[in-house]
Amino acid sequence: MTVPVEMYALTCGEITISYPSLRSTETGMLRVPVTSYLIVHPHGQVLFDSGMSPQIYDNYDDYVPEYAKKDRQFHFGPGEDVAARLQKAGFDPTAVDLVVNSHLHHDHCGGNSLLPNADILVQGRELDHARKQPDDTMAYRKADFETGQHLRTLDGEHDIFGDGALVCVPTNGHTPGHQSLRVSTEAGTWFLCGDACYLTASLDDLVLPLNVTDSASTLTVLENLQAMRNNGVHVLVGHDPEFWKTVPQAPDRIA
Ligand SMILES: [Zn+2]
Repeated sequence: MTVPVEMYALTCGEITISYPSLRSTETGMLRVPVTSYLIVHPHGQVLFDSGMSPQIYDNYDDYVPEYAKKDRQFHFGPGEDVAARLQKAGFDPTAVDLVVNSHLHHDHCGGNSLLPNADILVQGRELDHARKQPDDTMAYRKADFETGQHLRTLDGEHDIFGDGALVCVPTNGHTPGHQSLRVSTEAGTWFLCGDACYLTASLDDLVLPLNVTDSASTLTVLENLQAMRNNGVHVLVGHDPEFWKTVPQAPDRIA
């Protein structure tokens, strides 16, 4: 028997970044959405990724180093952070019980502190890796994930409520401890990939991003995602502007 869960999509700003960094065969720049999902389960409210920190719009010049301004631009302002998006859709950010971070890059955990009563579920490998990185790489920023919230570290697959409805699944490659979230509802199975796959096109042809840290693992994950999709799983890719236009936004439900 499947558990009744509801799933909602939230857009938390956009970033313009180099297209080849998403897909090596492209050129130029691409404006992509920063995505987050709320899943309402009978035993708790779970957020998958929390978008970017309001520090970006409060203090853009300090937050974004000069070199980073050359290859990215943030489109993110008040009203677009995850707490504001939740409130606008009729949800209470203080009612979120858990945040699952796919990984700890700044566009996936920057809103953690806006969910003050949530514990954070992250793979231990990811946290270890993130803590070793300098703060100025424009990838990991300690202020985003060292928030004082309880960091519950996982070691591999984890069934959040023990009923199979929400399962964290390691999908490392993009980062050493990247994870995705499998959501099983009465209506089917969804796989929230995070940055394990940025664009739908890459599910079709397995073209990798330029300069991935671990191309073998990234490709294996992509092949698994492709197989899942071919078996009827709804694979929700991380940063695809065209795909994202087809996803209903909260307060409308995905599932
Ligand atoms: Zn990302």
